[in-house]
Amino acid sequence: MSDADSPRFTTLALPSALLSNLDSLGYLAMTPVQATALPAILDKRDVIAQAKTGSGKTAAFGLGLLAALNPESFAVQGLVLCPTRELADQVAEEIRRLARAMPNVKVLTLCGGAPFGPQLGSLEHGAHIVVGTPGRVEEHLRKGSLDLSRLTMLVLDEADRMLDMGFQASLEAIIGQTPASRQTLMFSATFPEDEQKGSIRAIAAGLMRDPLRVKVEETH
Ligand code: ADP
Ligand code: MG
Repeated sequence: MSDADSPRFTTLALPSALLSNLDSLGYLAMTPVQATALPAILDKRDVIAQAKTGSGKTAAFGLGLLAALNPESFAVQGLVLCPTRELADQVAEEIRRLARAMPNVKVLTLCGGAPFGPQLGSLEHGAHIVVGTPGRVEEHLRKGSLDLSRLTMLVLDEADRMLDMGFQASLEAIIGQTPASRQTLMFSATFPEDEQKGSIRAIAAGLMRDPLRVKVEETH
């Protein structure tokens, strides 16, 4: 798809503040995964998307999270789980960039390897979106410092890698603390085809309601 043919973000029902910020970031045309997944995400559908590294998956779910957010409520409304601290930091940074037009929106990272105490303090101040690694997020849930009872959107980023790293039990424990009414999004660079128990497909089947499956080959 050439840039001239790519749909523009302005074709989406996004709040105008988000659109003008995208313009200032130089995000004009959507990447293919954004063009396919975002309309469904904004329509509140569950989505399973596969697209290569560098294809703009973060903005696809990040804009979905921000568009659905109620900034007046300080409950955690969005949770993004990532396999590593580095990836979680990158995702949080991109969501903060996308959220520049929404100055009151708080994005908090909760990752292992970082001290626990300051995370408790940050949680007490409240956050709209939490980005974290499964182990640490589960620990906060167990200790009662994180409440996901008002979550509206759950994102599993690099879901294949999280399973490879043995996070399945943590993921299940976390998901069990979220409302069944939530919207669930899964993003991955690869989706192994097998249907075995514990595979990404088996997990997705138990988690998602009539998901839209998006598979994109090209990056831009
Ligand atoms: P992925 O998660 O698919 O590996 P990222 O979300 O990290 O990819 O995005 C890769 C890069 O592309 C980032 O630097 C991001 O800022 C940039 N990007 C994403 N969407 C757009 C867009 N629509 N227009 C221009 N740049 C974009
Ligand atoms: Mg990514």
